[in-house]
Amino acid sequence: MYKTLVDIFGENYVSKKAVDLYPYSYDMTECKPHMPDFVVIPENKEQLVKLVKFCNTNLIPIVPCITGNNVGGLTIPEQGGIIVDFSKKMNKILHINETMMYALLEPGVTFGQLKKYLDEKYPNLRYSYPYAPPYAGVVGNAILSGMNSLSNKIGSMGDSINGLEVITADGTIARIGSCFYGENEADPDSWWARYPMPDLMGNFICWQGMTGLITKCAVQLWPNPPFKKTYLVMVSGLTDIAPVIREVGISGVVEDVSAVSTEVVKMTVEIPDPEKYPGEPDFAALFPISAKTEKLLEAKKEIFLTVIKDLKKKGIQLVATDVDEFAKLFNLRVRCHLDLPAVLLSLVEYSGLTWFGSYAPTHKLEKLIAKVDKIFHKYNVPSFIYMKIMKTGHYGIFRPIIRYNKFKEGEEDKIHALLEEITDFCIKEGCIPYKTPTWMTEKMREIINPGWLKLFDKIKGCLDPNNIFNPGRWNT
Ligand SMILES: Cc1cc2nc3c(=O)[nH]c(=O)nc-3n(C[C@H](O)[C@H](O)[C@H](O)COP(=O)(O)OP(=O)(O)OC[C@H]3O[C@@H](n4cnc5c(N)ncnc54)[C@H](O)[C@@H]3O)c2cc1C
Repeated sequence: MYKTLVDIFGENYVSKKAVDLYPYSYDMTECKPHMPDFVVIPENKEQLVKLVKFCNTNLIPIVPCITGNNVGGLTIPEQGGIIVDFSKKMNKILHINETMMYALLEPGVTFGQLKKYLDEKYPNLRYSYPYAPPYAGVVGNAILSGMNSLSNKIGSMGDSINGLEVITADGTIARIGSCFYGENEADPDSWWARYPMPDLMGNFICWQGMTGLITKCAVQLWPNPPFKKTYLVMVSGLTDIAPVIREVGISGVVEDVSAVSTEVVKMTVEIPDPEKYPGEPDFAALFPISAKTEKLLEAKKEIFLTVIKDLKKKGIQLVATDVDEFAKLFNLRVRCHLDLPAVLLSLVEYSGLTWFGSYAPTHKLEKLIAKVDKIFHKYNVPSFIYMKIMKTGHYGIFRPIIRYNKFKEGEEDKIHALLEEITDFCIKEGCIPYKTPTWMTEKMREIINPGWLKLFDKIKGCLDPNNIFNPGRWNT
């Protein structure tokens, strides 16, 4: 097998040494580590077609990996096999179409790389960035339907994919989207839309690498208006943040709605064991606004401030400030939350990071906050809660976060028990976790309707009959 892989990728781009395999065997979460048998570093799709055919014939698992920053154990090779690392050589920005505003990317392109490229060459365009580190993958985030800095405007990142090039289990290369005309390579200017043909894209989005290998992905870009302002709103009353973010989201003037509990705010200004004291606000939310002209910015600010005033009239205790002033007062690191993508050190400096990240029904946010806050306190862990309003209020994100020390005796078990209790409660309330570890999908399978599960298994069986792509995900 080693010889075959060397024939395909070249000796320098295949390894079976433990020292090279080890970094792919775990991630920041408490998900159980497992070593791969090989790692390969591809350079082009022709190599990958050969790999897929070989693995499909010989029933060998393939685990696609970009940077493994998904915080869900998704690239841990649960059944061993071959890690395909896209980050090292398949990491080119292939094309930017300025008129139709999209970027055609290889899977290994990172957020930092894309931001630098756009800032230098296309300052009139921008992408929507997550709180993930700049070294995390753009395509990995998009195919997992991430939620980023323009999410109140555009919704989930899965919706902003224009086109994909994929290799399926039998080695077929398929182009999906408006790039689908023609037998050979598509014109780089043809990746501008996803519809109106039957939408095959869904067979590869949110499938956690279980249905094929993506070799190209076109993502939408957005105008980068010159006038910007971000408001910070602090809210007292544990659950009163819910109407605040709902109302501001629905106003339609803010491009993002991100709310975090006070403990998270303290974490960002590097207070080691962040705790909320009596009398302090319970939540803080960031609301960025942008506009093409100063006059339009003023009009949007006026709408935003009217919503805030109305909320105050209803008895909600809140304070709205200019976040730039707040950053000066506290610590410039607060700016990391504004100038994305950034390394939020306080999130990644611990050896362990895990969460229950979910799409959530926004009318239940009050119930979710109240109960999850109690669960955090029961385990004596700071109540880190992060929420978003998506696509002007059509849905929300509810994400309790836990950072922990992986190497402290008993810590991982305690954190897992806490996360499990949060998961049990939240899925019962209708939350749908994203980037799901297998222990979470096992719980979900118990309550998902049997028709969905049957269809899901049928599609997986059809696209990957020998279960070679990231086996084990979603308990396949
Ligand atoms: C501190 C921190 C904060 C974060 N904050 C946010 C946030 O605010 N919002 C948000 O949305 N996300 C957030 N994330 C998650 C992160 O944005 C994404 O999950 C990440 O960008 C995915 O990219 P990756 O390079 O890590 O992909 P990987 O984890 O390597 O891969 C992701 C998935 O895609 C599959 N895959 C990889 N390559 C291919 C391929 N070529 N073909 C098919 N399948 C493939 C993998 O098997 C895996 O299932 C955060 C992460 C961290 C560490």
